[in-house]
Amino acid sequence: MILFEGKSKIVQSGICEESLVLFYTDVATAFNGGKKAELLGKGKLCAAISNLLFTYLEQKGIKTHTIKTIDETSVLVKKAEIIKVEVIIRNVAAGGFSKKYGVSEGTAYAAPIVEFCLKSDELNDPMINESQIVALNLASKDELLELERQALYINELLCELFEKVGIRLIDFKLEFGKVGGEIILCDEISPDSCRLWDIETGAKMDKDIFRQDLGDMLLAYEEVLRRLEHVK
Ligand code: 5GP
Repeated sequence: MILFEGKSKIVQSGICEESLVLFYTDVATAFNGGKKAELLGKGKLCAAISNLLFTYLEQKGIKTHTIKTIDETSVLVKKAEIIKVEVIIRNVAAGGFSKKYGVSEGTAYAAPIVEFCLKSDELNDPMINESQIVALNLASKDELLELERQALYINELLCELFEKVGIRLIDFKLEFGKVGGEIILCDEISPDSCRLWDIETGAKMDKDIFRQDLGDMLLAYEEVLRRLEHVK
């Protein structure tokens, strides 16, 4: 049974009360749904990349929602109470941040930037600060510290992995949830939610290709997957 239809994923009931099925669709969206297209095979690619990255993070001690992969586009996950705060980590200037703060694209920051956004499609995921999050009961101070600690550790792990395959991790978005009071990583990590640049050429290998009409996005996603599958 379909419980919720997101922009690029469908959430269905799982095999028990404690689980859900995430189904990756072929729909690509940008600008909060303002631009939309169906790209055959995108769901499979995002699912494969995200599953691979979640498995890698699990191996490094990060707790995630994944129970098991069902098929090429579906994953069985733990039902978590989703924290309505998105965590964005930025290593290199790009996108909205470049524009807003006048930092030229490609400038590496002295330290990773941690940003929180309210998870709300209606409000276009506005940035929200820590005292606002606590005041609105979205998360406690301790939970926020834990989100930041986990997000920065995930950043270190992902930067190391992507560097091995010749990719620079520019920025990405994470979502977390709670199961029995424990904070776990939820949603997905894929080129839909990260900016990835080829280290040698600087070519974009992520959803900016779709956002900015730069060419065949799926070819880039296929290349990201191919490299990650062959990491040493
Ligand atoms: P920006 O704030 O520059 O638009 O996004 C920063 C990073 O977070 C980018 O890698 C972008 O893909 C990701 N991101 C931010 N918000 C969302 C969102 O609502 N959905 C997805 N899939 N990614 C997001």
